[in-house]
Amino acid sequence: EQDVVEYKKSLAIRVSGFDVPRPIKTFEECGFSADLMKTIAKQAYEKPTAIQCQALPIVLSGRDIIGMAKTGSGKTAAFVLPMIVHIMDQPELEKDEGPIGVICAPTRELAHQIYLEAKKFAKSHSIRVSAVYGGMSKLEQFKELKAGCEIVVATPGRLIDMLKMKALTMFRATYLVLDEADRMFDLGFEPQIRSIVGQIRPDRQTLLFSATMPRKVEKLAREILTDPVRVTVGEVG
Ligand code: ADP
Ligand code: MG
Repeated sequence: EQDVVEYKKSLAIRVSGFDVPRPIKTFEECGFSADLMKTIAKQAYEKPTAIQCQALPIVLSGRDIIGMAKTGSGKTAAFVLPMIVHIMDQPELEKDEGPIGVICAPTRELAHQIYLEAKKFAKSHSIRVSAVYGGMSKLEQFKELKAGCEIVVATPGRLIDMLKMKALTMFRATYLVLDEADRMFDLGFEPQIRSIVGQIRPDRQTLLFSATMPRKVEKLAREILTDPVRVTVGEVG
């Protein structure tokens, strides 16, 4: 149903979708601000990883993406860097209307890692990042969310709790990341994910990352992504 526009067997990179932006080879090609480039340099990220080369131009163009690449391939920066750009492009509001970027991850450890990565890049732009996962005081989290943030990194169960407590609203959320979607499904989070997605405006940008594509995850992807580009790096899925 979708055209395979590129297939490099040597690198095992497979990209499919309509009108796919060309991959980049350097961070300079991404058009990032000087501040963001400085932070990238500080991380000693000399050049983008394979998944970043493919995913960055796609996500920066506003397209939905299904990304499959093995652990350690640099998927976090592939969704965090465009998220910073996306947030900087939004008009500033008088009043806090909740996060713009919402990231769901399967476990508190993964959510915490993403939180740390997001904080590194968000800092120089005075973008506030909140972490929402089990094992932390609900009251403290409630208060932090009430104070406002632009990015929330969460496990699905605790995010639902916070939404029920009205600690945050999804009025302003336009950039949704589902990281390690297959693991979230393995842990039984499908209903929570569906509930969260249902509370975010349909014209959002949606990014789904998964090491494998079981039928249930594929079905969700078909339901919640709009005209996605599919990127696979390496022998995964
Ligand atoms: P994944 O989510 O694909 O498992 P991560 O995003 O956690 O991978 O990245 C794995 C490691 O690689 C992290 O320590 C991260 O800081 C580092 N990393 C990410 N992008 C680059 C890059 N372009 N150059 C060097 N290191 C990078
Ligand atoms: Mg990851």
